[in-house]
Amino acid sequence: MDLSIVIPAYNEADNLQELITTLYEVLKTKHSFEVIVVDDGSTDASYDLLKQLRTQYQNLKVVKFRTNFGQTAALSAGFKHACGDIIVTLDADLQNDPHDIPMLLQKMDQNYDVVSGWRKNRQDPFLKRRLPSIIANWFISKITGVHLHDYGCTLKAYRKETLENFELYGELHRFIPALTQWSGASITEVPVNHFPRRRGKSNYGLGRTYRVILDLITVKFLMSFSTQPIHIFGAIGLVNLLLGFLCLGIVIFLKLYVDFNMTGNPLLYASILFIFTATQLIMMGLLAEISIRTYHETLNKPIYVIDCVLD
Ligand code: UDP
Ligand code: MG
Repeated sequence: MDLSIVIPAYNEADNLQELITTLYEVLKTKHSFEVIVVDDGSTDASYDLLKQLRTQYQNLKVVKFRTNFGQTAALSAGFKHACGDIIVTLDADLQNDPHDIPMLLQKMDQNYDVVSGWRKNRQDPFLKRRLPSIIANWFISKITGVHLHDYGCTLKAYRKETLENFELYGELHRFIPALTQWSGASITEVPVNHFPRRRGKSNYGLGRTYRVILDLITVKFLMSFSTQPIHIFGAIGLVNLLLGFLCLGIVIFLKLYVDFNMTGNPLLYASILFIFTATQLIMMGLLAEISIRTYHETLNKPIYVIDCVLD
């Protein structure tokens, strides 16, 4: 199988017929491909429609969730069921354009591992969606070191092996390009079409902003410190320890040479707090070291990804 198209769908009954028709029209020149629609616990007629579409279209797989687990879970399930060497993800709501897929694949032929769609002319409200997204993309690019204009665009193409080295949790689907970088993927982006949502309703609003920030912290942590958590916990701990002893030193100095009452000195309390926090942080770092070893050793997860071995 050359190509798998993975589509998360939640209550998209009004869009699926047109989506599948256009998709198969675009892909008709490809000889081996499959389309996997993950029905993320839709409560409308999506599943019945998909069952019916399966009778008309070849290689249309449907993975149905028992209830709504979210877009990340849907994509993750799609990846697990995909057999293609290249996996293309796409929204079910017709905001992405299936006609862009051949262009993405062409870019993949230029030896890229990940090609990310960039909704250059994004058709969503400015204040509520586009502005937060501009800021988020800037931040994510800076912090992860993977510079993309549009992390949030679902239309992306991946070489299958780049998706095999990490698990997705929460809402981490937005960070997949950054996560693939861990295994050395070469990443590029291309401008793609984007249309306003015509039918059905968007599942996201401003409320997710704070989650993106927290997810970003998680991703940064996983990318930089997952195999040596003590380095981050310990670093903050050592800074605290230093500040603690500095405060304590000043307190003792003031007592000995200026005769300034120790218990009346706020720095004494600061030093207690700093030293206490430092101990806690370093201990936490050690616990994290134990859990990361448990993770890698019990699950047999290597801390590297091999490209090839010549022997
Ligand atoms: N989606 C999903 N599960 C959810 C929410 C969304 O599978 O819990 C799908 C949805 O059907 C669509 C895609 O994820 O295909 C993007 O969702 P949406 O269009 O609501 O997001 P937006 O384009 O507004 O960011
Ligand atoms: Mg949408």
